Amino acid sequence: MTYIPAEDRYEKMQFRRCGQSGLKLPALSLGLWHNFGHVDVLENSRAILKLAFDHGVTHFDLANNYGPPPGSAEENFGKILKEDFKTFRDEMIISTKAGYTMWKGPYGDWGSKKYLVSSLDQSLKRMQLDYVDIFYHHRPDPETPITETMMALDQIVKQGKALYVGISNYNAEQAAEAIKVLKELGTPCLIHQPKYSMFERWVENGLMDILGQQGVGCIPFSPLAQGLLTDKYLSGIPADSRAAKAHGFLQTGQITESKLQQIHELNALAKSRGQKLAHMALSWLLKDPRVSSVLVGASKPEQLADSLKCLDNIIFTEAELQQINEILNR
Ligand code: NDP
Repeated sequence: MTYIPAEDRYEKMQFRRCGQSGLKLPALSLGLWHNFGHVDVLENSRAILKLAFDHGVTHFDLANNYGPPPGSAEENFGKILKEDFKTFRDEMIISTKAGYTMWKGPYGDWGSKKYLVSSLDQSLKRMQLDYVDIFYHHRPDPETPITETMMALDQIVKQGKALYVGISNYNAEQAAEAIKVLKELGTPCLIHQPKYSMFERWVENGLMDILGQQGVGCIPFSPLAQGLLTDKYLSGIPADSRAAKAHGFLQTGQITESKLQQIHELNALAKSRGQKLAHMALSWLLKDPRVSSVLVGASKPEQLADSLKCLDNIIFTEAELQQINEILNR
């Protein structure tokens, strides 16, 4: 049956300007790292994408290696796009990345021009697209000169294979350098994608200031710490959770007693705000206007519907912020 998206989809979403660019992103974006590979159920992936789009989630984030197996998330996304979203391409912001190991040998990893250009060509084929909206360098490369990597991104934009470019996992110093080189080349850095959540606050020591000063957007990934910042692990490890899956990146060893204690306390605080912990963890990131969008994952449509409720309350009192800091510093 032909997919007809919800008529009121744009009324439900808040859009934020991405840095000082012309692009606006939805406050919540959907990541396809888990739950969209060939190991997953395609109809579930399709249902998540439809629910997202029906709620104004216009931004979908991929990478060459998402699956498993690597490449299969892009393949499945391309298939669903063709079948259901064909007429909505201009309403979608699709991103992909290269930077982690994708194929054997010296040209399938890190940050050479050789790797980035051929990887994006492969991604476009898998997704059956002519261009992506955002192409990222996925992680800094200690060996390739940053100028080469940025020149590859610049070329990709000038060739029309990506509209914008971004960087991911770059520290403050590396980001400042990349932003400078891209500016000189005439292709501004649109966005940085760092790991940022209540449990991972490294970006607060310099990176966010640089992004704010330079007018570069920020899209935190793993905002729920892969599910830890929800109530799901409070009484054990559910069988269908990421921690229980063999191919999931969340290891049971990361669910320590001290983490669980913090999660219990954060959960109680969220309740006092009339929220679930997942909502509070997402709205806590959105309180910073430099955050352009928060990049969430979901293993089922209902989960994404739940996460979207974070938008009902993104205001925190000073006392609440202090309480959160006290819990996290324990
Ligand atoms: P999250 O921290 O949002 O974790 C998502 C997981 O949390 C879900 O799969 C689900 O796990 C659980 N969950 C989500 N919503 C809820 C809810 N409302 N209630 C209870 N549990 C919930 O993000 P991800 O780690 O998935 O990362 C998001 C995206 O960020 C990725 O898809 C990718 O696009 C990007 N990313 C980028 C990286 C980079 O290096 N640039 C690295 C990693 C991610 P469960 O399966 O247990 O149900």
